[in-house]
Amino acid sequence: MIWQSVIGQERVKAQLLVLLKTGRLAHAYLFQGDDGVGKDAMAIQLAAAIHCRKGDFDPCGKCPSCLKLAGLQHPDVHLVFSLPVGKDEGKGDHPLEKLSGPEVDAIREQIRLKGVNPYHRISVPRATVIKVNSIRDIRRESVMSTMGSNRRVVIISRADEMNEQSSNALLKTLEEPATETLFILTSMFPERLLPTIRSRCHSVQFDPLGPAEIAGRLVSDGLANETDARLVAHLAMGSFRRASELLGEDMAEERQQALEFVRLMMGNSFSPLMKRIDELSAQKDRELVVRFLNLIALWFRDTLVHSKGGEILNVDQSESIKRFVDRFPAVNYPDILGRLDGAVSLVRRNGYIPLVLVRLSIELKRSILLTTA
Ligand SMILES: [Zn+2]
Repeated sequence: MIWQSVIGQERVKAQLLVLLKTGRLAHAYLFQGDDGVGKDAMAIQLAAAIHCRKGDFDPCGKCPSCLKLAGLQHPDVHLVFSLPVGKDEGKGDHPLEKLSGPEVDAIREQIRLKGVNPYHRISVPRATVIKVNSIRDIRRESVMSTMGSNRRVVIISRADEMNEQSSNALLKTLEEPATETLFILTSMFPERLLPTIRSRCHSVQFDPLGPAEIAGRLVSDGLANETDARLVAHLAMGSFRRASELLGEDMAEERQQALEFVRLMMGNSFSPLMKRIDELSAQKDRELVVRFLNLIALWFRDTLVHSKGGEILNVDQSESIKRFVDRFPAVNYPDILGRLDGAVSLVRRNGYIPLVLVRLSIELKRSILLTTA
C-alpha cells in the first residue's frame, strides 16, 4: 500500500502515481469532491512524493524534506487558504504583514494542525476570502527558482473562496507557461471558480469514502472504539472529517429520538407526531434535520441487517430492533431507505421541512403496513 496517510481514493492515487512516475504531471490540477474526502490530504501527499529525497514516489516520512512537509514548513510547498485582511493592508503587502500578532499565531497554529492531520479543517477567525495578496505572493515566488531541485507545489485549499481579484491574479499566473510550479486547487464547489481557471486545470474527481474505510482509520488512529467508529462512519456520508466531528458529539440521545420518531410514526395518533415534526422544523438548521433523517435511516438499516442475522450499529437498541423485525418481517427496505434518501435531498434542496417530514412519515408507515397485509 502506497500513500497511506490518504484514506481510500485508490483510483485517484493510481492515476496520480502513473503521471508522477512517467513524468507527465500537468501544470495545474483541480481536485474536486465532497468535504472531508481527502482532497487536501492527497495534494499534500503528492507534494511529499515529489519532494521526498528517497526518490521512489512513496514518501519515507523521515528525510529532511518529508519532515519539513509534515509541519507544512517546506520552502517549495505552499498552502494557500482564506486569511483575514489586515488593517491598512495595501496592494502587494505580504499576506501576513498587516495582521496582528495573535492573528498570525492563530494562523500558524492552524498550519501546524493541518500538518499533523491533513483532514483538519483550517479555520481562522474573520477569514472568508483567499486574498489577492496571497496569490501575488505566490506569483512573486513562482518566478524564482526552487530551493531544491524539484518543482514548487502550490496548494490552494477551497479555491472557490478566491474573490474576483485573486481569481484574476491566479489566472495570469496559470497563463504564464514557463513556470515550474505545480498548482493544485481543491474545491467542493468547482462551479464557483472562473470557467477560465477551470479550463486551465485538469480536474480530478474524488469519491465519497466507504464506511469501512472511514471506520478503519478512526480505529487505527485510536480516535474511536470499533462500535463508535462504525456508527459515525455510517452517518458521515463518505466524509472522514464529518465522521471525526460526529465523534465529538453525544449521539446516544439523538439516536434515541430517532427511534422515538419511528414509534410515533407507526402509532395511531397523529398529534404527537405532528408536535415532534413541528419541534424538528423549528430548529431552523437543515443539517440537523438531515442528520436526524440519517439516524432514522441508520435504524432501519439495523433492522434490515438484524433480519439477515448481521451485526447492528445501534447496539443499545437491539431490543426494539428485534421487536420490529419480529412484527414486520417482510419490510421492503429498498423502498424505505430510498424514501429516506429522497427526503434528505429535499431538505438539502430547501424543501419545506414540515411538509417533507409529514409526507415521509405517511409514506414509510404505509410501506411498512403494506407488507403485513
Ligand atoms: Zn522522504
